[in-house]
Amino acid sequence: MDFSLNENQLNYLETVRKLVKNDITPHILEMEKKHKFPWEIINKAWEMGIINLCIPESVKGYEIDIISSALIIKELSYGDTGISTSAMCNDLANVVVSQHGTDEQKELYLKPFVEKPLLASFCLTEPNAGSDNSMMTSFMVKQNDGTYLLNGSKCFITNASYASQYTVICKVGKPTSNFMACVVIPVEPVTSKELPDVGQSTREINLSTGGKITIGKPEDKLGQRLSNTASITFEDVIVQPQQIIGDRRFGFKYIVDVLDYARPMVAAIGLGLAKRALDLTLQYTQERVQFNQRICDLPVARDMLTAMWKKVELAEMALLKAVYKIQEKAPDAGIYASLAKNTAAEAALFCANEGLHLHGGYGFTTEYEISKLARDAHIIDIYEGVREVQNMIIGREIV
Ligand SMILES: Cc1cc2nc3c(=O)[nH]c(=O)nc-3n(C[C@H](O)[C@H](O)[C@H](O)COP(=O)(O)OP(=O)(O)OC[C@H]3O[C@@H](n4cnc5c(N)ncnc54)[C@H](O)[C@@H]3O)c2cc1C
Repeated sequence: MDFSLNENQLNYLETVRKLVKNDITPHILEMEKKHKFPWEIINKAWEMGIINLCIPESVKGYEIDIISSALIIKELSYGDTGISTSAMCNDLANVVVSQHGTDEQKELYLKPFVEKPLLASFCLTEPNAGSDNSMMTSFMVKQNDGTYLLNGSKCFITNASYASQYTVICKVGKPTSNFMACVVIPVEPVTSKELPDVGQSTREINLSTGGKITIGKPEDKLGQRLSNTASITFEDVIVQPQQIIGDRRFGFKYIVDVLDYARPMVAAIGLGLAKRALDLTLQYTQERVQFNQRICDLPVARDMLTAMWKKVELAEMALLKAVYKIQEKAPDAGIYASLAKNTAAEAALFCANEGLHLHGGYGFTTEYEISKLARDAHIIDIYEGVREVQNMIIGREIV
């Protein structure tokens, strides 16, 4: 593996760093307190070409390689992991179209994201089907005219309140079917102009093609408050055969493909957060003096900083290995995706918690960003497969 970055990758890094330095970190605590959806940053990121990373060259005119994608997400996450979660969610929803859609489907369902700053949602989790998604009961059933009728409810869906397109995983035929399908449901496109802020409201979409989508009020979360998360109900939504991606029985395989791509991206989110926590703590402990010494020079505190640095470096190595494996289309890429996700989640939680501790009482106040990072870090160990599920995947592969 060659860890040196090419010119393109370095350019992407510089672009994102500029956005983070000028528009995110100086205002992040104020932005988070206001709890307002960060359309402004999403729009800027779209103009800079650093979201919609999985859209292929045939649709976008250029393509962003997987290593650059991970680096972009890591750098954006250094600014805020709620914003990067929202941005990355477009890829979580759209990568299945990039990987398994026909040319016509790519044009129909990916092109709108190139033309306007729109958001997408990936709808997998249900109230009774979290880690065990085989228990989902949302289903679509074929009608006499060849179309399908989709019914069911999803929960914890990122971007749901602001999305212009929903990628939905559902059962086929009946709620207890062994077959799952992946369908794409575009709705009337909404940008920051049409839908600047839903506040605490629900959103109802009556589809011109038939059926209704109801989005619950945004969840009030411990952290990542700048990302939007809500439940969704699909009621008699008409699905045309062309909205089904790939084979309508292979949805489970497509979920695995999506998550093998997306888990390293979550690792990049965790790594960005861990690095931010380390940098803030280094800065604080270099300034604060106790016992006539800078805190960073007290031996036990120095050990803690060293432990934080090691976690960050190990998470970065695990991430790079995972993305190189994807780039090489290695058959064992999945296990490295799980390793990267767990290693980065561990780094994020460790660095945020130890970092908060090294800030003393100040770290426990909302005035210091480290307290926000400690809240944000927990979700990295949960979404896109909890830690135990990653360990289950690794265990299954190595035995
Ligand atoms: C902010 C946020 C954003 C999200 N975004 C999306 C999204 O965009 N799309 C989407 O589809 N979903 C999304 N999710 C859902 C997320 O992926 C699930 O919450 C996650 O997969 C866990 O499912 P669960 O919450 O039902 O927990 P459960 O599956 O009920 O698990 C609870 C706990 O049980 C334990 N456990 C579970 N399985 C095992 C096991 N096999 N072995 C041992 N212990 C186990 C773990 O400790 C786990 O934390 C999001 C969630 C949040 C909070």
